[in-house]
Amino acid sequence: MWGPDQPEPAQPRHTADSITDDALTAARTRHLPDDIAIHYQNAVNAVVAAEQRAERAEARRAALKRAHVALAEQAGRNQAALDAVRKLHRPAKDWSWKTFGCNHDGAHAQSCGRCKTCHPCDTVRALDAHTTPTETT
Ligand SMILES: [Zn+2]
Ligand SMILES: [Zn+2]
Repeated sequence: MWGPDQPEPAQPRHTADSITDDALTAARTRHLPDDIAIHYQNAVNAVVAAEQRAERAEARRAALKRAHVALAEQAGRNQAALDAVRKLHRPAKDWSWKTFGCNHDGAHAQSCGRCKTCHPCDTVRALDAHTTPTETT
């Protein structure tokens, strides 16, 4: 036990920035009975573990957000490419096709402006099988 006329042994000097968690715990518990100090240490450990879990959760959340943004950007580029292809394969404004039609029992009233075959052409039918147009032709 340290009396008032007995100086305490010198403790290493710390600043708030330089002190480690272990040194802080040692400084706070050195006057406590051992069983209380153990409870204190357990509580500190629990807080540190909770903080580490929170940091990992935050890192995962940030990574998911970055992935979400990247996917949304990629989806936008994909849609722009699909729209460009559909635009190329719009129905042609071809009066002769309307007049004479195709040989498919008149099922096709228009020709593809790109392929010069019945509209919808193979390209448009392939797009229709997998996507929904976002602009009308
Ligand atoms: Zn076409
Ligand atoms: Zn046809």
